[in-house]
Amino acid sequence: MASSCSCNTVNFKAASFHPNKPLAPTPSHLLPTSKPSQLASISLRLNQNPLQTTHFRKSKAVPGFQVVASGQKGEPLRVMISGAPASGKGTQCELITKKYNLVHIAAGDLLRAEVAAGTENGKRAKEFMEMGKLVPNEIVVMMVKERLAQQDSQENGWLLDGYPRSESQATALKKFGFVPDIFILLEVPEEILVERVVGRRLDPVTGKIYHLTYSPPETEEIAARLTQRFDDTEEKVKLRLLTHNSNVESVLSLYEDQIVKVDGTLPKEEVFSEIDSVLTELLTKKGAAVGSLAA
Ligand code: AMP
Repeated sequence: MASSCSCNTVNFKAASFHPNKPLAPTPSHLLPTSKPSQLASISLRLNQNPLQTTHFRKSKAVPGFQVVASGQKGEPLRVMISGAPASGKGTQCELITKKYNLVHIAAGDLLRAEVAAGTENGKRAKEFMEMGKLVPNEIVVMMVKERLAQQDSQENGWLLDGYPRSESQATALKKFGFVPDIFILLEVPEEILVERVVGRRLDPVTGKIYHLTYSPPETEEIAARLTQRFDDTEEKVKLRLLTHNSNVESVLSLYEDQIVKVDGTLPKEEVFSEIDSVLTELLTKKGAAVGSLAA
């Protein structure tokens, strides 16, 4: 992505970073072994305008990490993304995973896979999903924890979508040692969410998400095979929104230092641009080679 655009080039000196409160002890391999002046300056190409950077700087907090020289492999990113149903999480997750090569773990997808497989957990989960309620922790927590613990998530980093959705889920994850570097919250007003949900359709062949009005399928053939999620009706989305609204504040309070709020009503490219600038800066602080990201 960065290689094909007319980008601004911003030079960061390692010594110019003033990290906010670190979330977790910095791994020893990220600590500088030489004097700050010996650290290489980092050349970072950003594909957004300066205003977007300003928005990021206004964001509540971004966790800090010691900066090491560009080109050195750092710790993988650990990202949580949250937002009401149809706030655009799915679209942003697709863009984020494409660029940052993170393992996308969506609690809703894991549950739908259980439902589709007809397992005991799936049958039980479906009852709650039909009501727009949270599936009990004894089903969700271990499912998510096990996926996070897999080798690909540990090596590439992870993007956790739709989890935690309650304080107890957040606490459980923390106990297992899974703490995010950043918590992205997509904000969208409720009336827009309902409209987005009701028109949302999925192409089961490509996995692409469409909207009958705003992002219609390209061909008749695709239109004919589109499916709708069983909980994407107006009645059910209202229940899901109630559940979301009653839980979101308690979850946010646990990630105060990691939260970055993004306006989810903006075009998807602009939403991604904001997220992208935050993640790139974070990754740089963690010491990864920005140039090694997928284009
Ligand atoms: P989503 O695909 O994120 O919109 O989730 C669809 C449904 O799956 C939700 O309405 C819940 O019933 C269930 N679900 C998803 N994530 C969780 C979670 N973290 N905890 C409990 N239930 C969940």
